[in-house]
Amino acid sequence: MATVTLENITKTFGETLAVDDVSLHVEDGEFVVLLGPSGCGKTTTLNMIAGLERATAGHISIGGERVEHVPPDKRDIAMVFQSIALYPHMSVYQNISFPLRMARTPKAEIDQRVRRVADLLRIGELLDRRPHQLSGGQRQRVALGRSVVRDPAVFLFDEPLSSLDAKLRVDMRVEVKKLHERLGATFVYVTHDQVEAMTMADRVAVMDLGILLQLGSPDDIYTRPANLMVAGFLGNPGMNFVTGRLTNGGGGLRFEGGNVAVDLSAAASSAAASGQAVTLGIRPESVEVGEGAADGATVHGNIFATEPVGSDLFLDVLFEDEASVDDGAHLFKVRARPDLKVRVGERIPLCLPHANLYLFDDAGHRIHP
Ligand code: ATP
Repeated sequence: MATVTLENITKTFGETLAVDDVSLHVEDGEFVVLLGPSGCGKTTTLNMIAGLERATAGHISIGGERVEHVPPDKRDIAMVFQSIALYPHMSVYQNISFPLRMARTPKAEIDQRVRRVADLLRIGELLDRRPHQLSGGQRQRVALGRSVVRDPAVFLFDEPLSSLDAKLRVDMRVEVKKLHERLGATFVYVTHDQVEAMTMADRVAVMDLGILLQLGSPDDIYTRPANLMVAGFLGNPGMNFVTGRLTNGGGGLRFEGGNVAVDLSAAASSAAASGQAVTLGIRPESVEVGEGAADGATVHGNIFATEPVGSDLFLDVLFEDEASVDDGAHLFKVRARPDLKVRVGERIPLCLPHANLYLFDDAGHRIHP
């Protein structure tokens, strides 16, 4: 059993609180991604699981056994880093077999394991080559192979794809996911790239400022973000927000703020109270260009900029009033069809479907849906 459990883990470096009371349980065979912006504490968390850093407070268990006092090489883990440090004077075969030779594994077993791993990673043809005769992606696969060959129960990855170019990253994403399926091992993977997290993880742990903000499936954290920080961090471009206040409207509650006025659905009205300060949120792909149907609210704004990206057309729509454009608060990103014919400066109606509206309270917690 290779579960990984963190209980109230805290890590300080002098004055810096790098990890703040994080509790997290990774199931045996699960793929959990630690996701967050630079400096949020994800590498420190991973290093504590690996035993490369010691927690200031809290407990860490691997396979149900407390490991705070177990050195890294006795933890039955493999660590895969961003930088690919292969031995340049050794062949691919020698690189992959290196950990086994160090462990004095019998030759026949080494041979069998290296060939199995080479098969898994489709590098069987490359075993006689030296690292300088490989492409970046092949080198990364060899590095993965060297970690996998010992057959540890837990794999820890620290941004292993971030040094690769965009196309290769996409290929390797699939490769890592397949590797997880074939090995059935427990994976804990650190990245700041939300696409990596969303495409590979069983569950994503979103971190910021040393705090674990939310732990959930990719669908969970995207469609039911716990708070404003998670909602804003996920999605590219991220969720649109307007701060304002709720008032009593015609049937139910009405949101007013940032030159946007929206009658809320009965469901949203029941989650909040008149007079309450809230932030209204909606994702760019949920906003529809045009007069809305009955199950949405219509607002009007001026097109401030257009960004065609081939598959989509992104519009920056401004709800103009005395506020400046700079603060971004009254600017909505809207994902439109690429063939939509609009001009900068044009005033357009937008429909905000009730089913896609989010409400957050003044502490940032999601209160609807
Ligand atoms: P990145 O994606 O940039 O690697 P991260 O989310 O992995 O960031 P950490 O490397 O875990 O973040 O760092 C968390 C915080 O702890 C940061 O504020 C960092 O400056 C600080 N920190 C990390 N290691 C040390 C150290 N050895 N000494 C002092 N401060 C440190």
